[in-house]
Amino acid sequence: MIIDLRSDTVTKPTNGMLEAMWSAQVGDDVFGEDPTVNALEQKLAEMFGMEAGIFCPSGTMTNQIAIKLHTGPHQEVICHKYSHIYLYEAGGIMANARASVKLLDGAYGKITAESIAENISPDDVHACETTLVSLENTMNKGGGSIYTLDEVKPIKILCEKHGIKLHLDGARLFNALVASGESAKDWGARFDTISICLSKGLGCPIGSVLLGTKADIKRARKIRKSFGGGMRQAGYLAAAAIYALDHHVDRLAEDHDRAKAIGQLLEKHPLVSEVFPVVTNIVIARLQDISPEDFLSKLSENGIKAVKFGKDQVRFVTHLDFNDEMLMLFGERIKEI
Ligand SMILES: *Cc1c(COP(=O)(O)O)cnc(C)c1O
Repeated sequence: MIIDLRSDTVTKPTNGMLEAMWSAQVGDDVFGEDPTVNALEQKLAEMFGMEAGIFCPSGTMTNQIAIKLHTGPHQEVICHKYSHIYLYEAGGIMANARASVKLLDGAYGKITAESIAENISPDDVHACETTLVSLENTMNKGGGSIYTLDEVKPIKILCEKHGIKLHLDGARLFNALVASGESAKDWGARFDTISICLSKGLGCPIGSVLLGTKADIKRARKIRKSFGGGMRQAGYLAAAAIYALDHHVDRLAEDHDRAKAIGQLLEKHPLVSEVFPVVTNIVIARLQDISPEDFLSKLSENGIKAVKFGKDQVRFVTHLDFNDEMLMLFGERIKEI
């Protein structure tokens, strides 16, 4: 049995999810006539207490639409230097919004109100105007670290004071909410736009939703069209998402428990020098006396898949298709390496 921990995107739809997809009511969503897409957008907007939502093919698209909504030429977004929007979206900030980016440092991929305050551009002819701050929760490259609301509140206040929009790359926001116990509405109240992935821990085949004001989501529909992201009978995909929101949120706690167990196993391993604190479903291990390539090929010989994550790091992600039996096997196999 291959144990695939490369990402939480490797899951396949469950039978229950496939049945929900099979029986979905659909229509042409570019005409706004797909009842299941409309229901999904409304359901998520209501959960987070936001005005509206838009269903898109990927989290890259929802992030890129948000960046284009809030920035443009001669303007910049402030984010952590390890942000997905900067590292893993193919240079979209520049290519799509023609905006600049200011990268901040911070432990476990997180930035603070203090460091943002120091980096907001002055009102000066030389400067690139700061119009957007983007946070990521959970923070992928931070090892699935999470922000608390107490950390976000001063950032929101700072942004409001300077007329700067605040976006949340919440690809794994439900993992964060399950780990912290904080409420979706409290998070919704603090951001202008939120991007949520359904194809990560929630186990859907495709899809992300961008939440925001009615006016922003109206503009987002035009931007999505120009990106080629207008879909027709997308209700089959939205049905999977509605099913996941009803059945796959609370169970994320299991993924977190299994990730913690993996973290403990790796901490004891002679080839591992450090494991980032495990808070959600991501485990990042720093290696010693071996390259990530060699470590990964040893894992692979033992039926375990993971990914390289920086020059001396590897990443494991737990998910819906990783169970306790596989965790036991993982424990046995990792000892062989
Ligand atoms: C996966 C991910 C996204 C979106 O990725 P897509 O593959 O385009 O859906 C955005 N942000 C983070 C942090 C992610 O992990």
